[in-house]
Formats: sequence, C-alpha cells, structure tokens
Amino acid sequence: MSELLLDGETYNYLWLTDRSNSKAQQILRRYHGCTERPCCQCLTDTRNRQLVIKTRCQRYYLARKADTSHHHAEWCLLYEPTETGGPSAKQKPAIQYEGDTVNVKLQTRLTRASFTTKQTDDKPVAEDKPNLPRSKAASLKPGRASTGLVGFFHALIQKAQLNDWQPQQTERPFAASTRALEKAAQTVTLEKQQPVAERLVITLWERSLEHSQAINLSALQTRTANLQQAAIVVGEIMECRNSTKVEGSLGLKLKLLNVPLWLPRPVARTAINSFGKLFSEIGKPDRRILAIAAVFRNKTSFVVSDIGLIRTNRQFIPVDSSYELQVADKLIAERRAFSKPLKLEDELRYLPDFLLHDCQVPWVMEVFGITNDDKYQAQKLEKLQYYRDHGIPCWQWEPAVDKVMQDFPVNELPSASLDQEADDFALTINGNGERITAGQ
Ligand SMILES: [Zn+2]
Repeated sequence: MSELLLDGETYNYLWLTDRSNSKAQQILRRYHGCTERPCCQCLTDTRNRQLVIKTRCQRYYLARKADTSHHHAEWCLLYEPTETGGPSAKQKPAIQYEGDTVNVKLQTRLTRASFTTKQTDDKPVAEDKPNLPRSKAASLKPGRASTGLVGFFHALIQKAQLNDWQPQQTERPFAASTRALEKAAQTVTLEKQQPVAERLVITLWERSLEHSQAINLSALQTRTANLQQAAIVVGEIMECRNSTKVEGSLGLKLKLLNVPLWLPRPVARTAINSFGKLFSEIGKPDRRILAIAAVFRNKTSFVVSDIGLIRTNRQFIPVDSSYELQVADKLIAERRAFSKPLKLEDELRYLPDFLLHDCQVPWVMEVFGITNDDKYQAQKLEKLQYYRDHGIPCWQWEPAVDKVMQDFPVNELPSASLDQEADDFALTINGNGERITAGQ
C-alpha cells in the first residue's frame, strides 16, 4: 500500500487524495504552498519521491514532480514507467485545469462552416459528417488532444460534484441538479478561452412548467441567433420518435423544452450506433437519460449536428450499466458516502466503478457484469490482482454468479448528522410532481 510521509505523519495515499474527504482536504489545505511536502515511502533510496500539493476547483490534490514517476517502486500507485515518447505521449490533455477553471478542447465543431444543410421546407438534412476528427491535421502536429461531448459532459458533472454523494443528502432533484450544472459551467472554457456559458443551454426548472419552458426556449433561441453557431444543449430526454416527414431522422423531446431537437439521418444513425442501449432506456422510471447536443438553428427548427448520451440514476449519479444503477441506488438507500469516478485524467491506472469513502480507508467497488468475453475476463483479473498488490480493499459483485448483491463493507465513519434525520430537509412538491428540497 502506498504511504506518504508528511510533517512526521504517515498517510494512506488513497485516503489523502480522496477529494471528497474533508479531513484529508483540510490537511492538504494546511500544507498547500508550504515547504513541507508529502513524500512517498515506497522505497528508501534518495531519489525524489516528493509530491506537490496543488489546488483546482476549490479542491486540493497531489501531483508528482516531472520525471519522478519511475523513482517509485513498481508496486507503488505512483509508479509509471519512463515515457517511451511517440507523438501521442506528448499530446496535451483535452481537459485542462488552471486554478478554478476547466478548459476543454472539443472535437465537436460549433461553427457551421463544416456543417451544411439542404434547406427544403423544414426538412433539415446534414450532408456531410461534421464531427469526424481532422485526422490528417492531427497526425501532422501532436498539439492537444480533444474530447467528445460525453467527455465534456463528464467534466461538467465532476465540476458540479454530481458524481459525489454525501449521506446527509436525501434527494437530489432535477431543479437543484441542473442549477448545479449551470453554476459549474460558469468556470468552464472552450478553446481560445471562450466561456462555455455563452454557448450552453441547460434546461432549467423555474417557478412553473410554462415559465420554465419559456426561459429554456428563449435561451435556445438566443444561443442560436447567429445561424453559423451552435448552442450546446443539455437536458433529460423524455421521448425520442421517428420523424414522419424525413425517413431515418429522429425528433428528441427534452424535459422542460417544448420544441423538438431534430437529428438528421446521418447524425441519428451515428447516435444509435454509439448509444443504442441508452435510446432504448428512455422513459424508464428508475433512471434518467441525459443528452448533450450541438444544435444549430435552421429556419424554425433546431437541428443536432452531434450528440452524446449518458445514463444516471434518479439522483444524477452517472452509471455505466443497470447493475451499477442498482449499486448506486442501494448505496444511497443505505446512506453511504461514495463517488463515481469519471474518465477525465489518468490519476489511477484503473478506473473503479465506485469509490466508497466512509470506511477507514477508501474501498474500490467493482461490478463485473459481462461474462462471455475473454478479454473482459482477463482485464478483470488483472485489475483485481492490481488491487491486491497495492493493498486496496475491493468490494465486487458479479451478477451472473450472485443474483443478490452482497452487503457493502461496514460503514466505519458514522456521520454525526445522520441522527438529525430529515428534519433539516423539509420536502415540498413542485409543479412538476417532483420533490424539491427546501432551500435548493
Ligand atoms: Zn511510491
């Protein structure tokens, strides 16, 4: 297990770097900017294994100094072999953090230059494939990696901390979650430092259904007033139906937006290839299917040039499968503190399905839902071996073997606030039939 020495105290690496652990964050805050630095204890030679405390998005984290990753023991979590070079190794990441701001390089183009439409009486048809990465240009200069809409959405969710769950919470309703996303977006920029808020339309709940629909439509109209530019629309999909006018194109209905978003045939085809399973889950009452779409205005209709879908549970925790959905719901029901790690940066070699934060040391949680795939099986064994080698406790569930999910590790850090029960959270019902926590 990787242990860090800081000012005479020893800390478990995973514990100290758990960004949702307030005690660990306090310690990092105290030593941020100090000459006293955490130092990994995996080896005893004199090579530099110091870590630097950095701050990003109001949270503290640890970073290795440049060219020190091979100074750690091969079993250490901080070990990486020396970079072998090659163009991809030198690429800067698509999602970059500078202080409190996140800067994202999107693959999706947001100007119409590469997105032509044939204007035939409200029958939008995209003629080319606007979102193919410029592979030729990319191979000439390594530059910076770019991310698709889903990667961008994950960065936004992480910023809004929707992938963290604190046991004091009882509900996380639509209104509060979309507001959190909107607030997070204020510190996200695109290329050339363009604030993403200038492009973004998050379908919000405000006062009443009619009022909400009016403000959301108005936001969409404003952001697409320049016909050459796309808005980035984020919302929950309520319905998806085939167009009666144009074969193969799809109309998407978002919650609190009373105009459809049209997916022309090629865009619809690509979307169904990539997110077919999620399309089939639209309308299921135990989850939400969220969309993020680049949308241009075409006469009176709104046309999607690129789209990404993600699945969350009712509380907006992203989940990769229906099994993960069950785990997240059970963790919430049992009032556990946990997070859903999202693929944003390479801090850990393996991305656990969940991290459980209310035990003495963080546990990783893995759901192994696939049984008939040799490659998946090999990766699974490799992952479990890695956790064993690094002394990381792992809870796992293999639904094909255990129909009933096994118990979670015992909560060893009971939160004092649990006794207060729901007194602090007077619930009211909003016009949408959803519970809203007072004060949110
Ligand atoms: Zn080490």
